[in-house]
Amino acid sequence: METSFIKEVQQKLNAAKNIVITTHHNPDGDAIGSVLALWFYLNKKYHADVVISNDFPEFYKWMPGADNIKIATKSKQECSELTDKADLIFCLDFNAPDRAGNLVKDLEKSKADKILIDHHLFPSDFFKIKYSQPATSSTAELIYEFIVALGDEELIDYNIAVAIYVGIITDTGSFSYSCNNPGTYAITSKLFEKGIDGADIQRQVYCNFSESRVRLLGYCLSEKLTILEKYSTAYIVITKDEMKRFHFKTGDNEGIVNYGLTIKGVKLAALFTERNSFVKLSLRSVGNFDVDKFARKHFSGAGHKNASGADIYKTLNESTDEFLSLLPLYEEELSKK
Ligand code: 5GP
Ligand code: MN
Repeated sequence: METSFIKEVQQKLNAAKNIVITTHHNPDGDAIGSVLALWFYLNKKYHADVVISNDFPEFYKWMPGADNIKIATKSKQECSELTDKADLIFCLDFNAPDRAGNLVKDLEKSKADKILIDHHLFPSDFFKIKYSQPATSSTAELIYEFIVALGDEELIDYNIAVAIYVGIITDTGSFSYSCNNPGTYAITSKLFEKGIDGADIQRQVYCNFSESRVRLLGYCLSEKLTILEKYSTAYIVITKDEMKRFHFKTGDNEGIVNYGLTIKGVKLAALFTERNSFVKLSLRSVGNFDVDKFARKHFSGAGHKNASGADIYKTLNESTDEFLSLLPLYEEELSKK
C-alpha cells in the first residue's frame, strides 16, 4: 500500500469527528465483510457508522456487528443525516457513486472527503483519495492490508478476522477463483491465528438457505437453464411470478449464475432476474472472455473480468433478446479452445 495514500488517510482520520463507512447497493459478502471489518477497527480509535443502501441477505446476518449496520430502505433519514454530518466517508467495494443506490444523492451532496478502497476496474475520479487494486481477491483483503499499513496489525481481532474471511471466501468462491495471489493465503493464515472457524463460517454462509431457495435453485437448473453450444453459453431467466412462487428473498439468486459454468465447455453464464422496473443481469465467465467489458459496452453495467452485472431498464423479453442478439458478435471469441 503506497505510503502517500496511508499518510493522507492518517491525516484525515486524525482530523475527522464523524466517519461513515458505506458500500454498494445489493451488498454481497465482500461488501458486508469489508464494512464490518473496517467498522470494528475504526471504532477502536475513532467514531464510525456503517450506512448502506438496502438490506443484505439473511445468510450474512449472523456476522458480528451486523446489527449495527444502518440501512437506508429502513431508516433513510438517519442514514442521510449521518452521511451529511460525516467529514470522512470510506467507500468500500464499489468504484463509482452511482453504485450507492439509495445513498447516491447523499454521497454526491456530502462535503466529506471520500476515501475509496476497492478492487473493481476503472475507479471514478469522484473519489479524490483512492486505493484501487483490481488484481486483489476482495476488498476485504485490502482492508486487512490497510489496517496493517496504518501500523495497527495487533488491533485485528476475532470479529475483524471473521468479517475479512467472509469477504475473501465470497469473492473467491471459497478459494476457487481470483485466488492465485499468495498474499491472499498469507492473510487468510493470519485470520486463522485469530481463532476463526473456517468450516463454521462456510456453513453459515452457504448452508443457511431457506427450503424455497434450494427448491428455486433446483427449478432453475432443471427447468430454466438454456445451453447454447454454438456460443459456449448457458443462461437462466427467472420471472417475477417464479420469484413469488419460491418466496424470493434478497440474496436468493446469489450463486445461481455460477452453475452454468460447471458444465463442460461453457465459458459464459448469464442470469436474468425480473425486478419491478428493471431486469438484473448477472454474468460470469471463465478464461479470457471479459464480462466487465461486455456489461459496460452493451448494458451500462460493470464488475470484474470474470464476474459482472447490470440493471437493464427493459422488459425481460427485450433484455434476453438483446443478449441473444449480441452472442453472434462474440462467436469466434467464445468458441476458442
Ligand atoms: P452479481 O452478479 O453478483 O450481482 O455481481 C457481480 C459483479 O458485478 C460484482 O462485482 C458487482 O459489483 C458487479 N455488478 C453487478 N451488478 C452491477 C451493476 O448493475 N452495475 C455495476 N457497475 N456493477 C455491477
Ligand atoms: Mn468485492
